[in-house]
Amino acid sequence: MREVIVIGGGAAGFFAAIHCAELMGSAGRVRILEKGPDLLTKVRISGGGRCNVTHACETARELVSYYPRGHKSLMGTFSRWGTQHTIDWFAQRGVELKTESDGRMFPITDSSHTIIETLMTAAQEAGVTWQTRCGVDFIERRGDGALTVVTSDGDITADAVLVATGGVRSKDAMRPTESLGQAFDSAVPSLFTFKLNDPRLDGLQGLSVENVKVKTGKLEASGPLLVTHWGVSGPGILKLSAWGARQLAEVDYCFTLQVNWLPHINEQELKQAFLKTRTEYGKRRIINERPFSEIPKRLWASLCAASGIPEDTQWSSISKAHMTALSRELLNGQYQVEGKSLNKDEFVTCGGVPLKSVNLKTMESKDIPGIYYAGEVLDIDGVTGGYNFQAAWATGRIAAEAIAKRD
Ligand SMILES: Cc1cc2nc3c(=O)[nH]c(=O)nc-3n(C[C@H](O)[C@H](O)[C@H](O)COP(=O)(O)OP(=O)(O)OC[C@H]3O[C@@H](n4cnc5c(N)ncnc54)[C@H](O)[C@@H]3O)c2cc1C
Repeated sequence: MREVIVIGGGAAGFFAAIHCAELMGSAGRVRILEKGPDLLTKVRISGGGRCNVTHACETARELVSYYPRGHKSLMGTFSRWGTQHTIDWFAQRGVELKTESDGRMFPITDSSHTIIETLMTAAQEAGVTWQTRCGVDFIERRGDGALTVVTSDGDITADAVLVATGGVRSKDAMRPTESLGQAFDSAVPSLFTFKLNDPRLDGLQGLSVENVKVKTGKLEASGPLLVTHWGVSGPGILKLSAWGARQLAEVDYCFTLQVNWLPHINEQELKQAFLKTRTEYGKRRIINERPFSEIPKRLWASLCAASGIPEDTQWSSISKAHMTALSRELLNGQYQVEGKSLNKDEFVTCGGVPLKSVNLKTMESKDIPGIYYAGEVLDIDGVTGGYNFQAAWATGRIAAEAIAKRD
């Protein structure tokens, strides 16, 4: 009987173990080893306890565009296991997923327990066994080619090992295969918010703007922006942090952020809007009458002040210099970022097993036969919105198929 060891009882490990056991039937045995006292802990806390299982994307091409690490190399992966496969898999087990207006998909129960119960039941039915408080220290290759998995609870011989140990911020995640010579890309955070202390945002905490473009160097992202007590957050900022994870770590998170509060308007259109407002509003104060309803009143007042426009200035007397300054504040405000804070709802690690060292058709290591990888231990991470679980399901599924087919 073939022995398959899955290291890590998270989303990727469970999903892979279930499929592998189903495919092998009585020809094999699948055992999950988990160092912690509990299984599926991140699934439980994910999505604020609701578990954002996947994201409504119709094609692999669209899906890959949300993965700063992985990106186009994941075309094949998501063609084989895309969003619809995830939806169908859960539906076949009685779990209906609903789509929120931004495309995030959750169980209709709005509870991660539904997902945990489904995975646990499917694993039990497939004959998967597990052991908690069983950390894997390292793996050795025996003379006959078999693998010995050395755990805190003794040694286990395996024909194949799936490493699904999660983000490599934890040294434990790398431990099992480091001894076999696996190299890892160093870990840096992804999905974080920016710390900045700028008088223009003083007193604006809690204010949000629906569509903002943020830029630093060649990196740019768009989406809602939220002013927080420590700086700026929101989907636009998180996207920029994910795409810039390595670059921003290199500058120790100190950089200039360019903010365009009106990305749908160009400089010429803005000037026209100012001139039209000057004619229409005449004697009304600039600070009280904004031509763009998408800019909240308090932000408008703050940007007028930053442009040097005295509070009592009327539209009829707006100067060219004020128009230029206000235009710069609206379309290209420069803010000095002085650090980062992690997003409390979801964060993932950039770094892990380099994709070039893995055969993405099987998830087997190119250098260490019999060792497979799935989930966040790989150098794959998506932006916020259910993409990280989608990658865990997909890579777990592909690894499971390859392991089951092994001679
Ligand atoms: C607060 C929070 C909320 C999130 N919400 C979402 C969300 O809603 N949607 C989404 O798509 N993503 C979300 N994510 C990201 C998502 O949870 C992860 O990308 C996903 O859990 C990765 O799954 P995994 O199985 O690869 O790793 P993990 O879930 O981290 O599982 C790895 C397991 O391996 C075990 N392990 C590690 N080393 C060893 C060892 N040497 N021996 C034995 N066991 C070991 C660990 O204890 C762990 O249980 C969230 C993350 C956080 C932190």
